[in-house]
Amino acid sequence: MSQNYKIETKCIQSGWKPKKGEPRVLPIYQSTTFKYDTTDEMGRLFDLQDNGYFYTRLQNPTNDAVAAKIADLEGGVAAMLTSSGQAANFYAAFNICEAGDHIVSASTIYGGTYNLFGVTMKKLGIECTFVDSDASEEEISRAFRQNTKLLFAETIANPALVVLDIEKFARIAHAHQVPLIVDNTFATPVNCRPFEWGADIVTHSTTKYMDGHAMQVGGAIVDSGNFDWTAYKEKYPGLTAPDESYHGITYTEKFGKAAYITKATVQLMRDLGSIPSPQNCFLLNVGLETLPLRVERHCYNAQKVAEYLQAHPKVDCVHFAGLPGDTYYELAQKYMPGGTCGVISFELKDGREAAVRFMDSLRLAAIVTHVADARTSVLHPASHTHRQLNDQQLAEAGVSPGMIRFSVGIEHVEDIIADLEQALKNA
Ligand SMILES: *Cc1c(COP(=O)(O)O)cnc(C)c1O
Repeated sequence: MSQNYKIETKCIQSGWKPKKGEPRVLPIYQSTTFKYDTTDEMGRLFDLQDNGYFYTRLQNPTNDAVAAKIADLEGGVAAMLTSSGQAANFYAAFNICEAGDHIVSASTIYGGTYNLFGVTMKKLGIECTFVDSDASEEEISRAFRQNTKLLFAETIANPALVVLDIEKFARIAHAHQVPLIVDNTFATPVNCRPFEWGADIVTHSTTKYMDGHAMQVGGAIVDSGNFDWTAYKEKYPGLTAPDESYHGITYTEKFGKAAYITKATVQLMRDLGSIPSPQNCFLLNVGLETLPLRVERHCYNAQKVAEYLQAHPKVDCVHFAGLPGDTYYELAQKYMPGGTCGVISFELKDGREAAVRFMDSLRLAAIVTHVADARTSVLHPASHTHRQLNDQQLAEAGVSPGMIRFSVGIEHVEDIIADLEQALKNA
């Protein structure tokens, strides 16, 4: 796909490759449709006989350039962009399972994904078993059934900040002949590339660090091309048997390593249609250009803030895998030696009420339903993102009632710490 450039270079150079006389900067192809000269030319596109743009719900040159960049950053063969991270995780799973199937997922995942798998997909006839990602291989293996089609987890769980043992999860998935899907939103490909540790498919909420400026909601699915669907023909008929809606094309035969992403595009996107707008993809691309610079600063600032909080008398505990002594310090050193992310979670000694007093006293850090952007932000998962979960589900998601999720921005760290200091006085 590209030269062996380092990630900093790929963030700038991958994706849009202008030819002679074309714009240097990725253009916004703000067009629903694309013109052809003959009836036959367009007919061949509908039959997947020819490659070409014809309708933006299926493909658009701006979107494709950004998808290609993200695929390159992760080291995958192809990517598809979606209008949100939620759509990305739904499509990633639904592309390979249907009513009657089963999935296994880490329980410490983003609240929205937990609901998607546990409640909404259940209504489609797809069941999910949630597992403790820290459990042994034997214990996690017990969750698998004959009809299990995939294993899912997040590199760094939002908001519990559990770091995934990716190699362990890949071993478990492959022992059960299913792909491992990893949501790599928090780590970003700058800090961790799950394909290098055995993951088969990666998803992103590009809304977070990839965009980095809180400008657009978006998602991405990247395929490593490594999972051999044809080895389990019976299990993945959607990829290995003829698709009636395309005159009997078999994706694995016609598209090889790009089978999974092609099916997601021409079938799921065609029918369900959660495409991002070209304008949003353009904004995402601008964000991606500075991703390595921002991630480095987020991690540096978060380390300082975590150390400050850990030493504060009103703070009960801090969860941040960059702190020696954190449960996930060793795993983070292995999988993300350059840093994990800018998000910290912590608890105050006086619990939930103190958390609310503290948050209401912050001046620089804003209370927003967002993480992982340039501005420092704060959220109380139990009353915000995880509000729909009951106490037991909260515990499984690694969220305690007093937990504060603090997303460290790229302002000067001394200003961030000064804000914490004055707010903690009121906590
Ligand atoms: C935010 C988030 C999502 C959902 O993404 P949206 O873009 O908000 O739909 C999924 N996974 C993780 C890890 C997230 O942080």
